[in-house]
Amino acid sequence: MHSYNLIAPAKINLYLEIIADRPDGYHELAMILQSIGLADQIDVRSISTDTIRVHCNHPQVPTDKSNLAYRAAELMASQFPEAWAKYGGVEISINKQIPVAAGLAGGSTNAAAVLVGIDLLWKLGLTQSELAELGATLGSDVPFCVSGGTAIATGRGEQLSPLPSLDNIYIVLAKYRSLEVSTAWAYKTYRQQFGDSYIKDTNDLAARASAVHSGAIVKAIVAQDPGKIAQKLHNDLERIILPAYPKVLELRELFANQEGVLGTMMSGSGPTVFALFESEQQAEKVKLHLRKAISDEDLELFVTRTVTHGIEVVSSV
Ligand code: ATP
Repeated sequence: MHSYNLIAPAKINLYLEIIADRPDGYHELAMILQSIGLADQIDVRSISTDTIRVHCNHPQVPTDKSNLAYRAAELMASQFPEAWAKYGGVEISINKQIPVAAGLAGGSTNAAAVLVGIDLLWKLGLTQSELAELGATLGSDVPFCVSGGTAIATGRGEQLSPLPSLDNIYIVLAKYRSLEVSTAWAYKTYRQQFGDSYIKDTNDLAARASAVHSGAIVKAIVAQDPGKIAQKLHNDLERIILPAYPKVLELRELFANQEGVLGTMMSGSGPTVFALFESEQQAEKVKLHLRKAISDEDLELFVTRTVTHGIEVVSSV
């Protein structure tokens, strides 16, 4: 095979708790991540020249070395120099559907797709955990994006414990096209404002992370109860983003007051806000209502649903 076409789903955070500082400068987190149907399509193909090329239909996405998909290909080339020499360069085409800098792991899922695609192109036979380990060197969300579904993520977000899959929840996503939030800024500001309350003792740290495993939202996921899951949504970063971005707060409040909304929360470091529903019909109705309530063309609205997979191969040539 010379090319693979892959689906790279976005994620939302059903839960995000910031627990402590880490010696490496990152934060110790406890999250619950969920793959969703909104996805990019990635084409990964072998080319005869010794280069990595990236194309993307979205003008804000870089196509140079700063693209996470490029870096994923570069990583594979450095890890598997013999395969790189044998199969030649790689051309990556990204059909971007996931909003950029939105808290939906758009870059991370592209990187995960490139790792999976190159593994297949070069017939490396890597396991999912080997791919995840490689992915962790590119970004904290990449390991989750490889396997997808529903999972608890601790450490920087790269330590995963799978949870039973949720495939029955509908979602409306709301994001202002021109509003982007830097993840680094969000965490830095959180540290400045709330760093005093971080756990300092490493024993307490392990206890706090494991408390999430036995927490109410995990119980609700195991029970496959969308209503209870929605009541227990949580994101510490809302404490930073909602006061700083009134438009995000407005979306959050609008969702909270709609009939049929089981629960609403900001995803990751924002600014995307999502709401959960039991049916597609309810989700479509609320999407329509928001469209009428906010007559700003900058506002993008998507109806999607939870999915049970990460990177998927659609076709190969
Ligand atoms: P996360 O939820 O993992 O924090 P995000 O959804 O907030 O990620 P991305 O969409 O990954 O953010 O974009 C963050 C920045 O990364 C963008 O400003 C963009 O310039 C850059 N970037 C690099 N590679 C990609 C890519 N393949 N797709 C989207 N953005 C990319």
